[in-house]
Amino acid sequence: MYLPDFEYYQPKSLAEACRLMTKFGSRARILAGGTDLLHKMKHEQLAPEVIVSLKGLKRLKEITYQKGVGVIIGALATQNDIAGSALLQEKYLSVCEAAHHMANNQIRNVGTLGGNIVNAVPSADLPPILIALGARIRLMGNKGERVMPLEEFFTGVHSSVIEADEILTEVIIPDQPSTGSTYIRFGLRRSGALAVVAVAAAVTMEGQTCRDVRIALGAAAPVPMRARQAETVLSNRVITDDLLEEAGVCAARECSPRSSIRGSEEYRRDLVRVLTRRALQKAIKEGHV
Ligand SMILES: Cc1cc2nc3c(=O)[nH]c(=O)nc-3n(C[C@H](O)[C@H](O)[C@H](O)COP(=O)(O)OP(=O)(O)OC[C@H]3O[C@@H](n4cnc5c(N)ncnc54)[C@H](O)[C@@H]3O)c2cc1C
Repeated sequence: MYLPDFEYYQPKSLAEACRLMTKFGSRARILAGGTDLLHKMKHEQLAPEVIVSLKGLKRLKEITYQKGVGVIIGALATQNDIAGSALLQEKYLSVCEAAHHMANNQIRNVGTLGGNIVNAVPSADLPPILIALGARIRLMGNKGERVMPLEEFFTGVHSSVIEADEILTEVIIPDQPSTGSTYIRFGLRRSGALAVVAVAAAVTMEGQTCRDVRIALGAAAPVPMRARQAETVLSNRVITDDLLEEAGVCAARECSPRSSIRGSEEYRRDLVRVLTRRALQKAIKEGHV
């Protein structure tokens, strides 16, 4: 298993990285942590002529808070940077927990947020919780910058709206101080296994009434998806156990999982039902703290 030949560039600025991606277009690939890209190259699934490494762009590793904007996570933040961020632990523990339960420690030390999103894999752990929190992403390319909701990024398995010259630079989680959120994933092992199904929920309560809710499912469709019908079941309703169960049933109906070696379609739907109810219960509790 050898890597094929390629030209290697390590730009010192984002502007230089964009110039290189504009110059080489689809002949080039961005290298972040390399946990996915290098694996595919070694297994001859990808053979880019040019690699543009982002490793020199330290600013893209930062996790910061900007008043009126929210938490900004640089695309180069690793899974362990996210899991260990004091800022995220204070504001969105659910995001830290999602990162902490991914892969294994070696992968978490190098695998980045940007790679996890751009890969566009249905079982990726970070997109569902970020979608539930209404996150937006910033893309930079030769036509300039664009900011879009993360949930509009994915178009299918391994496909998204990103252009060949574009770089994902950051993820923005808007302020939502009274929202409780959670992420629950089910894997076949406690660690080192991809999610069979994952459910993220973000709930804003007013007393016993649900004022706002977002539910996002992972590995339950070709793309991370919002369970909008389940959300409608809960919106502006007084929350009861029966209602949470009904939302779970609804989410199981509206998702479209595939059967694979890790679980049949029926099994995944049932997991969606159970995990949706549990995620909602936990998110409501978090919001009340
Ligand atoms: C053993 C193992 C276990 C794993 N377990 C999990 C798991 O439990 N959960 C999970 O979700 N994933 C898992 N993964 C998948 C992978 O590690 C993660 O998705 C990781 O976050 C990918 O990030 P990276 O920085 O390594 O991406 P890279 O391999 O560097 O890049 C992946 C793709 O994204 C593109 N890209 C990367 N960054 C950018 C950017 N900023 N802008 C534009 N394009 C970009 C690259 O060109 C490439 O096409 C696992 C992988 C391995 C090898």
